[in-house]
Amino acid sequence: MNSEILKKLEKKLQQQKESIEKELKSFAKEDVKPRGDWNTRYPKFNGGDLEEEADEFQEYEKLLSIEHALELKLRDINLALEKIKKNKYGKCGKCGKSIDIARLKACPEAKLCTKCK
Ligand SMILES: [Zn+2]
Repeated sequence: MNSEILKKLEKKLQQQKESIEKELKSFAKEDVKPRGDWNTRYPKFNGGDLEEEADEFQEYEKLLSIEHALELKLRDINLALEKIKKNKYGKCGKCGKSIDIARLKACPEAKLCTKCK
C-alpha cells in the first residue's frame, strides 16, 4: 500500500480513537485492568421520585448501548492501528486479500473485504 495513503488512514484512525475516547469519558469510566473495557456511570438518584428514577434508568440503558457500540468501534480501531505497526494493515481477516483502498478510506477500521463482510 502507498505509504502516503497509509499515513493518512493512520491519522484518521488516531483522530477517531481520540474522539471516541473523549465521548466515552463523558459518561463512562475506563477499567484500569483490563484496559479497553468501559463502564457507564450510573446516574445519581436525586430523590425518591419514582418517575424521575424511571427516567434516569432509561437514560442509563441508552448510555449502555451507546457505550457498547463505541467500545466495539474503539476495539476495531486499536486493532487496525496495531496492524499498521506490524505492517499487516489492509488485509482481509477472512480471505487474506487486500481490502479495497476506497473501502478503507470510508472505514479505516474495516477488518474484512467487501466480499467477506
Ligand atoms: Zn475477504
